[in-house]
Amino acid sequence: MRTGITPAEALRVILDETPVLAAETVAAREALGRVLAAPVDSPRTLPPADNSAMDGYAVRLADTARASEASPAVLRVSFEVAAGGEASVELGPGQAARVLTGAPVPPGTDAVVRQEDTEREGDRLTVLAAPGPREHIRDAGEDVRIGDRVLEPGAVLGPSELGLLASLGRGTVAVHQRPRVAILSGGDELVEPDGDVAGGRIVSSNSYSIAAQCRALGAEPVYLGIARDTRDDVERHFRAGLRADVLVSSAGVSVGDHDHVRPVLEKLGCRLAFWGVQMKPGYPLAFGRFEGESGPLVFGLPGNPVSAMVTFEEFVRPALRRMMGHRGLFRPLVRARLGETLRKKAGRLHFVRVSLAHEDGAVVAHSTGNPSSGVLRSMTLAAGLLIFPAEATELAAGAEADVQVLDPDFLASDRPGF
Ligand code: AMP
Ligand code: MG
Repeated sequence: MRTGITPAEALRVILDETPVLAAETVAAREALGRVLAAPVDSPRTLPPADNSAMDGYAVRLADTARASEASPAVLRVSFEVAAGGEASVELGPGQAARVLTGAPVPPGTDAVVRQEDTEREGDRLTVLAAPGPREHIRDAGEDVRIGDRVLEPGAVLGPSELGLLASLGRGTVAVHQRPRVAILSGGDELVEPDGDVAGGRIVSSNSYSIAAQCRALGAEPVYLGIARDTRDDVERHFRAGLRADVLVSSAGVSVGDHDHVRPVLEKLGCRLAFWGVQMKPGYPLAFGRFEGESGPLVFGLPGNPVSAMVTFEEFVRPALRRMMGHRGLFRPLVRARLGETLRKKAGRLHFVRVSLAHEDGAVVAHSTGNPSSGVLRSMTLAAGLLIFPAEATELAAGAEADVQVLDPDFLASDRPGF
């Protein structure tokens, strides 16, 4: 087992071990945010026929080419096509057909004249403006043609994709399975949120932040509870998670007396790939995989709440996204200007919790304060994690750095822009 590797090496090892999950068929209605596992080719042409973009009249150019208010064209309204109706009768010379928006235009139609450009009395239609060729006609197939590849595997199903699938008559869709993530915590000091915190006990908040991190990216958390600091209880909890796709534990992977996670994992047949990553927060991260084709991945996250969240963010999240079939695995990066000077020792890469603000055209990053990995409030203030490279010792105020954007709402505006 390797130890003390760089974050980039750790990520490479993890992603090399991470499978893309198989496909399942789900109702298109339920597929928001899922990732398409197979291409979608259109079984139909949309719109299926040339149709009117306006309420008005289908006409022939030969009859209306010189129409104007001064010298209108006079036509006879010979029939009407409603939206959803059929237009099989050919438009003859001197004829117009009443068409509503979306109605197919009859064969022989050259253009649609808007209702506003006409006057009508009985079946006598006066056309006051000459339409251009095919004006106000939507072409058959201008959206989709039969056989078109409309969505590629890897497409993320958002509102427009789901609308498109619906318009093609697709009620179900093949998407990658969502990983099931078993979450366990370990420590005699831990209680559930309604538990008694007398005598230095603390709430196992990691279970909540990690479950929420899973949900936020579309994975399915399964909470396994708190293991006591005994080897048997840790083993019992890990066994309960062996059918999941991923096990995430927090605490118990360092070298303290009560750290049973590593020996238990080895006993259960987990091949640990590394322990310890040159980063801060979050050095004591372990990663491995259970033997066998569908053996779950295992992440032993550090116990400190910020370390647990940051290591999840940097390593578990990209792995879960790969499992779900996403092509883009990582958070958006922005170049941000530092609002103050940051200093550290050389050696470890720091992920600095920062707020992000727009100031005269630039994105400015400010540290959220106390960098202790126990201060969970600093995470609530952080819109991003600023990359302070391993060998750097100072980032001067005003200099630029890459920031991983955790909260895209920092881009939310206080004005509508129109
Ligand atoms: P450990 O890795 O067990 O040494 O834990 C490191 C620190 O993280 C200790 O202060 C623990 O109390 C804290 N901690 C461990 N597990 C959790 C948890 N599930 N929720 C919140 N804090 C935790
Ligand atoms: Mg502990």
